[in-house]
Amino acid sequence: MASKPPVSAATHCPYCALQCAMTLGPPDGDAQAVGAPVSVAGRDFPTNQGGLCQKGWTSGQVLRASDRLTTPLLRGPDGELRPATWDEALGVVADRIRQIQSRHGREAVAVFGGGGLTNEKAYALGKFARVVLRTPYIDYNGRFCMASAAAGANRAFGVDRGLPFPLADLGGAQAVLLLGSNLAETMPPSVAHLAGARASGGLVVVDPRRTPTAALADDGAGVHLQPAPGTDLVVLLALAHVLWAEGLADSRYLTSRTTGAREVRSSVSAWWPERAEQVCGVPAADLRAVARLLAAASPARGGHGAYVLTGRGVEQSAHGTATVSAAINLALALGLPGRVGSGYGAITGQGNGQGGREHGQKADQLPGARRIDDPAARAHVAAVWGVDPRDLPGPGVPAVELLRRCGTADGPRALLVHGCNLVVSAPDATRVRERLAALDLLVVCDVVPSETALLADVVLPVTQWAEEEGTMTSLEGRVLRRRRALPAPQGVRTELEVLHDLAALLGVPTGFPADPAEVFDELARASAGGVADYSGLSHARLDADQRGLFWPCPATPAGSEPHPGTPRLFLDRFPTPDGRARLVVVEPDSPSDGLRPDAPVHLITGRVLQHYQSGAQTRRVAALAAAQPEPFVELHPLLADLVGVADGDLVQVASARGEAVAVAHVTPGARLDTVFMPFHWAGPGSVNRLTLDTTDPVSGMPDLKLCAVSLRPAPPSAEPPADGLGAVGRGAR
Ligand code: SF4
Repeated sequence: MASKPPVSAATHCPYCALQCAMTLGPPDGDAQAVGAPVSVAGRDFPTNQGGLCQKGWTSGQVLRASDRLTTPLLRGPDGELRPATWDEALGVVADRIRQIQSRHGREAVAVFGGGGLTNEKAYALGKFARVVLRTPYIDYNGRFCMASAAAGANRAFGVDRGLPFPLADLGGAQAVLLLGSNLAETMPPSVAHLAGARASGGLVVVDPRRTPTAALADDGAGVHLQPAPGTDLVVLLALAHVLWAEGLADSRYLTSRTTGAREVRSSVSAWWPERAEQVCGVPAADLRAVARLLAAASPARGGHGAYVLTGRGVEQSAHGTATVSAAINLALALGLPGRVGSGYGAITGQGNGQGGREHGQKADQLPGARRIDDPAARAHVAAVWGVDPRDLPGPGVPAVELLRRCGTADGPRALLVHGCNLVVSAPDATRVRERLAALDLLVVCDVVPSETALLADVVLPVTQWAEEEGTMTSLEGRVLRRRRALPAPQGVRTELEVLHDLAALLGVPTGFPADPAEVFDELARASAGGVADYSGLSHARLDADQRGLFWPCPATPAGSEPHPGTPRLFLDRFPTPDGRARLVVVEPDSPSDGLRPDAPVHLITGRVLQHYQSGAQTRRVAALAAAQPEPFVELHPLLADLVGVADGDLVQVASARGEAVAVAHVTPGARLDTVFMPFHWAGPGSVNRLTLDTTDPVSGMPDLKLCAVSLRPAPPSAEPPADGLGAVGRGAR
């Protein structure tokens, strides 16, 4: 490991894409003391304004997790994991990869990355897959997060940046339409940016639940629309219908800056509000009122600005791309994208969900968000990597398909997992566990014995967050420095070191530096000229500019001023061949898993304030685990009566994929026909035992958000929903 870390470090939160700014340091000032508590203080920044949520305040405890992995583990003949040296563990991995590839071909090894990896790690992982393993099989858990938003934005705007404007721009808006996002729980500091819309009565939240975010709207500051699960697309079509039917669309903007408006106008003519009400359950009068509210806020009609924002609630669906397209169509009809103070955006979830998809761990992309099937992109990246473009594999398959193929006759026989707890976070988790069990080799890099690590043949203990240098790209497309604040525990290596060593063992001794700044410089060159151009950035420049810089930020000629970055996209043109945004005709479809007599209730899934993703980190923080200790199922009092359970009882929830047990939380905020479960737990309460892995045909996004279930009181023999934390050695495949 390089130089000593500083006494305190200005860095960013390890969790979500808001990437709140914070300062880390031990309270006694002894940054080198191994095991000393780590203090966390919010730091002023345009997004979080000094604020943090409970996860952020307690994030220092993750660095001191009592079951931190500090030595490689190898599964022995007895099925137990045993400690090993790094040389032994990496030697086993390299030998097994060589054997598997010589017997089954290069495609027999696959890589699965994560949206929490730094840009440097995501880049190195993509390069490792294409240059060392030479396999097309690489994808990442961002496929479960931003895939539909990315697909929708790419086809409309020609670029995929979650928010094409700074988050703080929301503050001046008169109206914000928020679809499928519970910001008040998932990113509490961001709620401050909704104050302007709330003050104007213009916050519109579309969610089947009365979430804390919905409550911000229906207390007089706006409107909460509570559609039937899976019908958000119909809500959007009806809103667009009203705009055109009442002459509220921005015709001048549509004519000068877009294509496809005529076709979309014609298609939404069939979705008058009364018809939409029959499908989505939202009163026609409310649909009309919201369309008029948005139009009044639009710049074309003299308003102070409006935003349309989508989140996972509407995107994590086999129809997610269509719904995103409908949201973009609505924003374009209002004339919002590319105007200062208005726009469309998708709220990225994972910490580096944005950067993680730009630099090569996505199955179909090379660094710079370049398409891997574009000959010019292949030639550029191959030149940076010093390889023949013909040696680069072609596109792989999206994450769900990759997992389905694992352990099959023609599929991958080995899987390397980085930054992902698959058996908790992937849909139809039981099937995922079966596919992992069918592999010849499962290697997991992790910081704690996650449920997926416990299934591995080889576990490699790696550094986390405040123990390493790097960069992250926030939900705004702002590239930020992650700084090392304290030494890693002895025995732990960075993933860049792991990839460097493995590449050397597999016959590629150069091209995989372990220094993050060096990796970033190469990433920047590889991204040059791409959609996500980082070529004007470096660690040194980001260190000098404490506020981060927005991509695209291309390099400028020597001696000239550096590029200032691009906080706002589309002001002059859209990066499409003709410079225009494209409206796309979309139609609603039936839910993949519709209600039926044996599964008469909708299940929707989501997050709670105290936990993050699979909970591998937050379930290890005492204050968070105490505040939200177990899986629960939220249901309406009348439904609870019908099922025969009371608040606090154990409920058995069953779908066509499996069963889960959770504690009943009875609340009138739920719809009668819909229950909600969070997805942060493993074991009997794991909601992804119930979800289905049908995918969106455009984005590959699975149907994580909605399925049909039945409920009954849990039998006395039911396993209680445990926290899912396990000891090393359990969980043999
Ligand atoms: Fe901020 Fe998200 Fe971290 Fe909470 S979890 S402190 S909202 S970055």
